[in-house]
Amino acid sequence: MRWVRSITAVLLLGGVAGAGGPDAGPAADPRAAERLRMVERFIAREGIRDPATLQAMRTVPRHEFVPPGLVSAAYENRPLPIGLGQTISQPYIVAYQTEVVRPGEGMKILEIGTGSGYQAAVLAAAGARVYTMEIFAELATSARQRLERLGYRATVRHGDGNLGWPEEAPFDAIVVTAAASHVPPALIEQLKPGGRMVIPVGSMFGAQNLLQIDKDPGGTVRTRILLPVAFVPMLSGLR
Ligand code: SAH
Repeated sequence: MRWVRSITAVLLLGGVAGAGGPDAGPAADPRAAERLRMVERFIAREGIRDPATLQAMRTVPRHEFVPPGLVSAAYENRPLPIGLGQTISQPYIVAYQTEVVRPGEGMKILEIGTGSGYQAAVLAAAGARVYTMEIFAELATSARQRLERLGYRATVRHGDGNLGWPEEAPFDAIVVTAAASHVPPALIEQLKPGGRMVIPVGSMFGAQNLLQIDKDPGGTVRTRILLPVAFVPMLSGLR
């Protein structure tokens, strides 16, 4: 089994390098091999199957989203500090949340909690038009610049995600990446009928669960508990 996997990795690496055009070889992205290994070991092997999600995780350069001193840890399966007491989520959780909303070409997705911009980039790489909100001005600005520099289709707003983004609503999907004490009513409202939200709910010290919330075409909302998680808390009041 081991050799089959490594052949797959080599083939995928070839594919990624080729996609970058004639000048893009392994030298264009010296971390591509590490990233493919991360996706294979921590994401595909752990049960994530959605092809668009896996492909996005294989292409988005996570090392560009972590502080310079932590680049060597970028492809480990753990959250990392990004300043102001905030974190970039663990890769498995990013993939999991992405798979839940099944992003595709042309979907309009709202993310709450831009942080580094990594989750937004993964959603954009899977084909979505992404609107993402961050409560810290400093993080919003740096994520906006980073996403622009790397060429991802994501619009960043400095704002309180509890209120959502009414001017751009409704959304096909909403991905929340900070733990709320309850599901903000504005977000339910801004979800399109037939749409889906994924949101961690719970307290900072007590249990938190990732919830999947589906709004059916008639507007009825149904909630499912997916798994226990540990996110930084959702804040209120701009900073
Ligand atoms: N998705 C991010 C990780 C987010 S950590 C990434 O991929 O890097 C959670 C983020 O939510 C933090 O940056 C935090 O500042 C932000 N946040 C907390 N409360 C918020 C709120 N009410 N509205 C918008 N952003 C919020």
